[in-house]
Amino acid sequence: MALPTSQTVAWIESPGAEGKLVIRDGVDIQQPAKGEVLVKMECSGICHSDCRNVEGMGKYEDIPGHEGVGVVVKLGPDVASDLLSKRVGIKWLWSACGNCAACKRGKVNNCPGQLNTGRSVNGTLQQYVVAHATYLTLIPDGVPSEVAAPLLCAGLSLAGAVSKVAPEVQPGEFIAIVGAGGGLGHIGVQIAAHKGYKVIAIDGGEDKRVLCKEMGAVAFVDYTKEDVVSAVKALTDGEGAHGVICVAGSERAYQQAPSLVRNNGVFVCVGLPPDDFMFPMSPIHIANRGLVIKGSSTGTSEQMDELLQLALQGKITPKIEVYEFADAPKIIQELQRYEVTGRKVVKVPS
Ligand SMILES: [Zn+2]
Ligand SMILES: [Zn+2]
Repeated sequence: MALPTSQTVAWIESPGAEGKLVIRDGVDIQQPAKGEVLVKMECSGICHSDCRNVEGMGKYEDIPGHEGVGVVVKLGPDVASDLLSKRVGIKWLWSACGNCAACKRGKVNNCPGQLNTGRSVNGTLQQYVVAHATYLTLIPDGVPSEVAAPLLCAGLSLAGAVSKVAPEVQPGEFIAIVGAGGGLGHIGVQIAAHKGYKVIAIDGGEDKRVLCKEMGAVAFVDYTKEDVVSAVKALTDGEGAHGVICVAGSERAYQQAPSLVRNNGVFVCVGLPPDDFMFPMSPIHIANRGLVIKGSSTGTSEQMDELLQLALQGKITPKIEVYEFADAPKIIQELQRYEVTGRKVVKVPS
């Protein structure tokens, strides 16, 4: 069957303070070059970091989206023929250089030469997406596309972040997750609980409390009602959590979250505040308290495959709501207001 030449996409108009997402028809379909494939999308999750594209926080392409699932419908030159018709996931990491020290250690997610979906190339909120054959993720049979989608960014980001609390933090010890009820956070609660950590979930509102408890948190602290620092200290013998993962990207979250970690603990930066915001802690405090500060951006290919296997076994169960493609602009606005509990996924029109 001949493929169409134009398509429907979600497009960012005037990125910046007045930026908005609009649905646009008649946009050209790109063709796969050497080592690339064309994927006909089924669905795509919408991530809080897609708001950065809309708000013009950095240089991005016109079409956002970086957790999409679809079927390979066309191969570029030099791509193995068995990829045709495979169901695949397209992640934030569109490609890596393959030659640097990070790539050689399997940490492709930290490759300085990486290209990113929605940033360096157009994203997954389109009907047909060009993807790099080497950096696709094969989706196992038995994992529905709408379940796989949020694992590609939200799930993988938190699989990576939870792995970073080791070796300092041991199973049975406390991890506080700031922003635990959102798209990334709630899967992080489940991953951390599955790994044996005691999770203190921090977020606001009853829906998020219910979700975090469902995902395995031992406690929920509502920042809209409680003093977060004293609540976390009360839960942890007055010392603070052994590890803190800051998933929220607000400046306020980063100003408060370092106070939640105990001495010799680990603090992991995940959420993305504006680029000019600096980590709000003095080297003297970091030194005196013996803190370990780490950064985490998505995760490795091995962590991706492990996560999909856990989903297949029913051990990782993202909370998803599926919407029509035309709802994408409204979902971006809800994300900007921190109103989304779990993950909203849109169906891409066939
Ligand atoms: Zn994301
Ligand atoms: Zn590299």
